[in-house]
Amino acid sequence: MSIFPTLTNKTYVVMGIANKRSIAWAIAKTLDEAGAKLVLTYAAERFKSGLESLASELKQEAILLECDVTNDEAIDSTFRSIHEQAGEIQGIAHSIAFADKEALRGEFSEMTRGQFAQALDISAYSLTAVVKAAKPYFAQDASVITLTYLGGERVVPNYNLMGVAKAALDSSVKYLANEYGPHGVRVNAISAGPIRTLSAKGVGDFNSILSELEQKAPLRRNVSAEEVASTGLFLLSGMGSGVTGEVIHVDSGYHIL
Ligand code: NDP
Repeated sequence: MSIFPTLTNKTYVVMGIANKRSIAWAIAKTLDEAGAKLVLTYAAERFKSGLESLASELKQEAILLECDVTNDEAIDSTFRSIHEQAGEIQGIAHSIAFADKEALRGEFSEMTRGQFAQALDISAYSLTAVVKAAKPYFAQDASVITLTYLGGERVVPNYNLMGVAKAALDSSVKYLANEYGPHGVRVNAISAGPIRTLSAKGVGDFNSILSELEQKAPLRRNVSAEEVASTGLFLLSGMGSGVTGEVIHVDSGYHIL
């Protein structure tokens, strides 16, 4: 008997696929494998055709919708559309972050007020904005995940401004979990180890972060986006039904050091 969960006829929204290296893409493929009906959102029109060609690799046909998370009206109308086209929402994978790369190297305090506001808006507030917009359409046992990083818990060289954004995100997960729990909705974060993606390229000396983990983490290796996605499947499906407000580290155990 397979313990792999079946998500047939359940709608999941995956936000944050930039390309095939994106963690969100690994999550989409895993949910697709489990039979889920997928809605994939992209930030702006120019990313649509790339996402269309990726989506053509999925088993089930996905719905593609534009959603810039800095725009509340866009978020509301995206979730209205999702409900019209795909019914109630079983889960959301929020895999979105942005910071000016000048604020991801050098001295932490050199960042500007504008860089701070933008990073916190896109990387932390957007989770709350998305959950709020989805509220009327959630299934009774819906589940939301977001992606975070150890740099929000302690100092990681060069992670700087994004560390503050991840700390705000981690805290938002707890407050959202507490508010939405009585409605049956779970909210969790996965703290992924470093993975070479487009966003990761923006972090100064990212290679050192990768090699430090490889040398010192209990498993002595880096993690793959697919390993993060398996934990995502656990949290997004009924298998994780008792877990909320949690940050699960998928980082070869590096966070215990
Ligand atoms: P990607 O660059 O592949 O994904 C980041 C996504 O955020 C992109 O799809 C990007 O869209 C999207 N995004 C940025 N701004 C907006 C916006 N205004 N509206 C909508 N979407 C937006 O990198 P990852 O897969 O690495 O990142 C996914 C998540 O995982 C992030 O939260 C990241 O911090 C987190 N994470 C990553 C780790 C890593 O080492 N890679 C480690 C731990 C956590 P577009 O490119 O189309 O603008």
